[in-house]
Amino acid sequence: MERRQVIVVGAGPVGMAAAACLAGLGVDCLLLEKRDGLSKASKASTFHPPTLEILGELGVLDEMLARGRIVERIQYRNADGAVLAQFDLDLLQGQTPCPHRLHLEQSVLTALLLERLQQMPSADLRFGWAFEVLAEGQGAVTVTCRTPDGSLRKVAAEYVLAADGAHSAVRAALGLGMEGHDYPGQVLRLVVTDDLAAVLPGLGQISYIFGPDGRSISLLQMPDCWRVIIRLSPGFDREKIIRPEWYMPEVRRYIPQLAGPLTLREFDIYGARRMLAAGHGGARVFLIGDALHLTNTRGGMNMNCGIHDAYAIGGAIADALTEGRPALAQEAARARRRVAEEELLPRTDRAVTGGADWLAQVQAMAVDPGRTREMLVRAAMLDMAPPRGRLREAAQ
Ligand SMILES: Cc1cc2nc3c(=O)[nH]c(=O)nc-3n(C[C@H](O)[C@H](O)[C@H](O)COP(=O)(O)OP(=O)(O)OC[C@H]3O[C@@H](n4cnc5c(N)ncnc54)[C@H](O)[C@@H]3O)c2cc1C
Repeated sequence: MERRQVIVVGAGPVGMAAAACLAGLGVDCLLLEKRDGLSKASKASTFHPPTLEILGELGVLDEMLARGRIVERIQYRNADGAVLAQFDLDLLQGQTPCPHRLHLEQSVLTALLLERLQQMPSADLRFGWAFEVLAEGQGAVTVTCRTPDGSLRKVAAEYVLAADGAHSAVRAALGLGMEGHDYPGQVLRLVVTDDLAAVLPGLGQISYIFGPDGRSISLLQMPDCWRVIIRLSPGFDREKIIRPEWYMPEVRRYIPQLAGPLTLREFDIYGARRMLAAGHGGARVFLIGDALHLTNTRGGMNMNCGIHDAYAIGGAIADALTEGRPALAQEAARARRRVAEEELLPRTDRAVTGGADWLAQVQAMAVDPGRTREMLVRAAMLDMAPPRGRLREAAQ
């Protein structure tokens, strides 16, 4: 039977980051992906400072910066065009070498990581290989996979990282459920090619525009378009809301300065779930990314947290292999689940339950330098990310 040090299941952003981290530390790593190529779905777009630091260590940051939109400020406005509060990410200078966010499609990251992995002798990526069965034994785990020709193959490894997403088959094989609930409400995401910064001079690359009733829309600038996020009332009519006759008056409630109609490239309607796996995994099998935690998209944290899981547990597995101490990897996996439970989920809940007084709180924070800095550190996930520098040190 084929034997590897580590098998990573799932080539989404988290599994790709895990494989790049392990291979960068010289660990022999097999990455299995059930699809026949990378997903091109438009999902995550926000990369926070500690994630950018990690992507720097994985060797893809320069290309990401060249292709993405650097975000220097988070802005809160009203429909008259007045800026109510603004947070400059540059205030994070000294706390991180990357004092900004980056807006870029997650599919660009996975494509860049694929190029990196193809250059790394310790990494082996197989498309069309679907994980099916898990068997944990003494000192090894065996996975059975369905291969592209339909046959079953077994591969043994010392550790398995489950990065196979929200419906993780590895998690199911461990007998672990997901606990949590759906967030109320859904959103309509319009992707438009209009230059909204020309309509609203000085507009932040991520901006929230509040109407008089305390409701808001979010505007997020991508390299070549804007995402306009409209929160939908319960019982919305799907056919109706995707027509300009419905969404243009809705957008104009917040941006009355808009003269003509928006130029729509695509749209999407989605909801979100708040979920945490019932455990971190097994003795040598660990859950990371969406297989471990799911949350809403406000603040753009779930994939970032997954990449942090990959980096922290990947590093701990490298140590566990060197020292022959599985406990090192197990403790790292438990710690990452604690981060999801105690930091990620409450923090992203806060963005949903903020309510009408949220804007007042944001304005109070913006005029208090101490609270501004604290808010920026938390929004940037700097206080919940694992220590960085591991791959840089290994390369020296
Ligand atoms: C609209 C939207 C916007 C978002 N915005 C943000 C954001 O700005 N910032 C942020 O941090 N997060 C954001 N997220 C969340 C983010 O997209 C996810 O957290 C991220 O995709 C999780 O990555 P992952 O690699 O864990 O899982 P996935 O991306 O789901 O990848 C899992 C991979 O595993 C493969 N797989 C599944 N089963 C098997 C199997 N049996 N065998 C082999 N392979 C298998 C799948 O084919 C897939 O390629 C957003 C999500 C949505 C929907």
